[in-house]
Amino acid sequence: MGNAVATDNSQLAEIASKVDQGLRITADDARWLWKNASDADLCSLAGTVRGRFHSPDACTYMVMRIINYTNVCVAQCDYCAFYKLPGASGGYVLSHEDVFAKLDELLALGGDLAAFNGGFNPQLPLNYYCDLFASIRARYGDSIEFYALTIAEFLYLADHAKLSYTETAERLKAAGVRWITGGGSEILTEDFRARHSKFKYTVAEYFLAQQAIVEAGLKTTATMVIGFDETLDERIEHLERTRKFQDETGGLASFLCWTFKPYFTQIGGIEITAAEYLRHLALSRIYLDNIPRIRTSVLTQNERALDGLRYGADDFDLPIEDEVTQKAGATISLDFERILSYARQLGYAPVYRHVANTSQ
Ligand code: SF4
Repeated sequence: MGNAVATDNSQLAEIASKVDQGLRITADDARWLWKNASDADLCSLAGTVRGRFHSPDACTYMVMRIINYTNVCVAQCDYCAFYKLPGASGGYVLSHEDVFAKLDELLALGGDLAAFNGGFNPQLPLNYYCDLFASIRARYGDSIEFYALTIAEFLYLADHAKLSYTETAERLKAAGVRWITGGGSEILTEDFRARHSKFKYTVAEYFLAQQAIVEAGLKTTATMVIGFDETLDERIEHLERTRKFQDETGGLASFLCWTFKPYFTQIGGIEITAAEYLRHLALSRIYLDNIPRIRTSVLTQNERALDGLRYGADDFDLPIEDEVTQKAGATISLDFERILSYARQLGYAPVYRHVANTSQ
């Protein structure tokens, strides 16, 4: 027993020494930390890495809405409670006027970031997207910024239009798009994709598309969703692939992790605990030593997400809508002041972050 404790302490000291010196941890170190480190140890190590990018009491937030412009989708991911197959009742596509009304409401609520996220709808050609985004840019200028599509939708769109990733990125850029974010990544291992989402994309395609997006001069982000049936090794593989992509491109402005909501989905299951989410945030902060911003998910964790600031996160969204996660059980509060006051109680000074004015 005594020897076991000594081994644990020396292993922890070795990893802590790496983190203190600014050396990166390995996948084996991450595995060890997950299994053996206390919450306090993880917070401390994550705080060290966080401190390289942000002052201890600093954090930022945005008021944003996710605009689910269509729920028609042919991908049939088994963890999705949102989609309707083409021709099924309840399928929709938003008009420009619907989208403008949502953007006007966002502005009225003090927000200025919209993120477009919908299904793989075979009825929507590339021109639908280019017209929509160009009309938003013409109507709102820089008063609103938007994350136009996720990489998953971008992949489908390029395939559907029979264009290369580079050509697709250039066409969207010419329509006023500045961001195509890393949403739709869930767990980036080929095994996970084959188990749950075999029509969506392969991991190799995902990163090739993201590389083309970066090379076209568009901005992008990394995301991750945990709480399906993924293994620890799969979580670490996702982090490793993300860190490697950032080493190679430097294109990832932030990393956002949220948790799977299982209600009304084909695979079902139960939600992971907030405690598990927070430990994973800390592990992500320690592992992703080359990404400046780690975002914690109010959308899926509500106020508890702000505890993530102590686990290495430095940024969060205050969402006003996301049909995809709401359909699977997420609840949204518009009482922003209550949420922000919790951040202040924890000792942080939240500052609004305007994506339109920053590169991140
Ligand atoms: S997660 Fe996205 S791609 Fe998969 S079925 Fe749902 S809407 Fe379609």
